[in-house]
Amino acid sequence: MFKKILVANRGEIALRIQRACRELGIKAVMVYSEADRDAKYVKLADEAVCIGPAPSPLSYLNMPAIISAAEVTDAEAIHPGYGFLSENADFAERVEKSGFTFIGPTPENIRTMGDKVSAKQAMIKAGVPCVPGSDGELPDDPALIKRIAKTIGYPVIIKASGGGGGRGMRVVHTEAALVNAVQMTKAEAAAAFGNPAVYMEKYLQNPRHVEIQILADTHKNAVYLGERDCSMQRRHQKVIEEAPAPGIPRRLIEKIGDRCAAACKKIGYRGAGTFEFLYENGEFYFIEMNTRVQVEHPITELITGIDIVRTQIMIASGEKLPFTQRQIEFKGHAIECRVNAEDPYKFIPSPGRISMWHAPGGPGVRVDTHVYNNYFVPPNYDSMIGKIITYGDTREQAMARMRTALLETVVEGINTNIPLHQDLMVDSKFMEGGTNIHYLEEWLTHRNTNKR
Ligand code: ADP
Repeated sequence: MFKKILVANRGEIALRIQRACRELGIKAVMVYSEADRDAKYVKLADEAVCIGPAPSPLSYLNMPAIISAAEVTDAEAIHPGYGFLSENADFAERVEKSGFTFIGPTPENIRTMGDKVSAKQAMIKAGVPCVPGSDGELPDDPALIKRIAKTIGYPVIIKASGGGGGRGMRVVHTEAALVNAVQMTKAEAAAAFGNPAVYMEKYLQNPRHVEIQILADTHKNAVYLGERDCSMQRRHQKVIEEAPAPGIPRRLIEKIGDRCAAACKKIGYRGAGTFEFLYENGEFYFIEMNTRVQVEHPITELITGIDIVRTQIMIASGEKLPFTQRQIEFKGHAIECRVNAEDPYKFIPSPGRISMWHAPGGPGVRVDTHVYNNYFVPPNYDSMIGKIITYGDTREQAMARMRTALLETVVEGINTNIPLHQDLMVDSKFMEGGTNIHYLEEWLTHRNTNKR
């Protein structure tokens, strides 16, 4: 097992990884930008290294600075968390070439999965069901593009191969709008991701976002840890997640879970990963794979009792998975609300000093956050300041606990989206379960119209 790990991230996930290290008796080196000097996990760190000024390209995305920090502190491995460099194959490669262990999959696997066209092709080969679509990248010839769309059937969605974070997508309903939409998406993709390649998929009208968490070791073992329903999204960004997904027959989850675990073995995957699917009319359609730990990993930890971050570290150190698929038990229900520093109505970011912070507690309540009384939320990064996660024997109990937890939470000095979560936790459709990926947007439109 490692003696020292460098954590190449910030915020709640940096603290989460630091906690896992402590539990395993591993020293954690924290890196931080000038804006995060006062972070709790930096103050509590065994060692901490400033890697640059506030803007992330100069600090959290600064590969040479991070690798030098690992060198000067004699760390053996680097945990990238999520976001920043976590899915950057070049970074993983540089980390390994510099003699450190990258806590994540191989650079080759990250590269294949990072490009959505090659990811889809790999998945089709591995027997994972995908959304019907173009056979790889779209050609330039307008006549050919039209023919592909006709075969798939309208509406279709044009997606950037290098896209991410909910950007680089365009829905097309008619042939008249098609060629122009492809050209526009291409131009945007070239500007935003440095890769103009786009592909086409059938646009599913009312799907749910259901994803499968997997863990694979370097000894050819792979398991799935069940599913998460992340359909409550705004602008393709997840707001609330839950596990298990309400109303999906267990045999369907087992079938798709087995497929994912088998695909991991086939491609020689190692570490934690997530297969993201759209789920409609009893069918799963692969959309992409995330080759890292996810924001919403705690809900899976709560229903399986498996510590995903700890297991990532164990896998990276060469250990075997300590459980088989049959030993994994799913019990109870968990919900996560992402707490963002933003206006709950207009969604304008609300960085600044938190004059008062009081976290909820009690049975079945977990709070993953790095903030505290008088903490300053820097304006330079993502607006998520933490996650409130509740667990119950049933979905109803998990939701009741969430309502209490949200009521107990006090955040003063900045705006947060807690009032939004409070409204959603008493919404009758959400309480029924099984809302689709458009539900939250429609709900927000309705709310705003009623206000006016
Ligand atoms: P990103 O990497 O940017 O998150 P994804 O491919 O994961 O992109 O898609 C993000 C979201 O976009 C999905 O959760 C879903 O809401 C929507 N989406 C993507 N592909 C389709 C599709 N074929 N049909 C309907 N919605 C889609």
